[in-house]
Amino acid sequence: MIKAIKGAKDLFYDEVVRWQALEKLVREIFENFNYSEIRTPVFEETRLFARSIGEETDIVSKEMYTFTDKSGLSITLRPEMTASVVRAFIEHSLGKQFNLNKFYYIAPMFRQERPQAGRLRQFHQFGAEALGSSSPSLDAEMIILAYEILKQLGLKKLSVKINSLGSPAEREEYRKVLREYLKPHYDKLSETSKVRFEKNVLRIFDSKDERDIEIMKDAPRLLDSLGEESSAFFEEVKELLSKAGVEFETDTALVRGLDYYTHTTFEIVSESVGAQSALCGGGRYDLLAEQLGGTPTPGVGFAAGMERILLACANEEIEVGKKEKVKLYIVRIEKELKNKAFELALFFRRHGIKTELDYLSRSVKAQMREANRIEAEHVLILGGEEFLKNEAVLKNMSDGSQKNVSLANLEAVLKEISG
Ligand code: AMP
Repeated sequence: MIKAIKGAKDLFYDEVVRWQALEKLVREIFENFNYSEIRTPVFEETRLFARSIGEETDIVSKEMYTFTDKSGLSITLRPEMTASVVRAFIEHSLGKQFNLNKFYYIAPMFRQERPQAGRLRQFHQFGAEALGSSSPSLDAEMIILAYEILKQLGLKKLSVKINSLGSPAEREEYRKVLREYLKPHYDKLSETSKVRFEKNVLRIFDSKDERDIEIMKDAPRLLDSLGEESSAFFEEVKELLSKAGVEFETDTALVRGLDYYTHTTFEIVSESVGAQSALCGGGRYDLLAEQLGGTPTPGVGFAAGMERILLACANEEIEVGKKEKVKLYIVRIEKELKNKAFELALFFRRHGIKTELDYLSRSVKAQMREANRIEAEHVLILGGEEFLKNEAVLKNMSDGSQKNVSLANLEAVLKEISG
């Protein structure tokens, strides 16, 4: 038997209802904040991700689905969306059309990680990217947006962690300070961290290695060496969050895995999803557009993992979405009436009534059982003496009442059902 690829999931029935409800909520909230949806291809040239995310990140070095197409071009299934959005922004000169572009997306991403609960190889993110403004209010808006969605779902055990990486210059200066601090500990660092020491020393904060963690505990923090401007920026973000009622904590070790962040970084974690606790993360990336060959353009964004959010909801016993019930089930008594039932069903369906009928030549009893099973609100029984009078029996399944309706006046039946 051919199975789905490991770490990629099929979704159907109740599970899809939950996804649709989450997607609907996400869209509503993004639209309220006046974000426009952006859709980009699922694959891009490999060098886009190598250049933006960074060669030495786990994503680029180990996790990308990369292949060479028939023309010899190296192509990668997108592992995240920011690079694609910024690529599209540059390619279509969107900065010339509008000073500020606010985008959102709901899309599948691909990373070849070890699959486990809350970690898949094809997973889905919703997120936002705003390009063109250096205002701290947009940093705050990203955090508020993500928080709002999670709160409106009903999630409780959330904590918001924020940090600032300052300006590019401050970050550069801090790199030196951190290297100085680490030099005497170099031999004790893990092999991965030794590589990071050279290539991207900040990322040693992301290490899960016990010894690295111990060493990093006393490392100087970037947040403590921010200049006046960056500090004021960070203060403003915090003030806006407080006013919005978003509780947060400052986490000075939060540098995030990607190389292009400046100023604000944030993560929202949930106690309800075990080891994979980060539901979403993001931050400001003022350097990225330039790094990808565009004019320097400030940007800020976040991405949230939808599988993890739904897992957190399930663990907190939050019901997400409800399937709309069938409003009308048409039961036909005589088999010869099957096409009449089909025609009637089409009429109701065309009038916006969710309608079902039998396709399996079932007995009348079995059709009634099916109507019950799917919890149809009404049943229209077609056949017998009533049919000879051009009538049918309409049964209200919630109170069991029934009445004869005329098949010559379907508008009246429509009213009855919709009522
Ligand atoms: P990142 O793009 O790595 O910052 O991830 C943003 C969010 O996407 C994370 O907080 C997770 O919720 C989600 N995420 C990242 N990788 C995976 C994965 N392999 N499977 C499921 N969700 C993921």
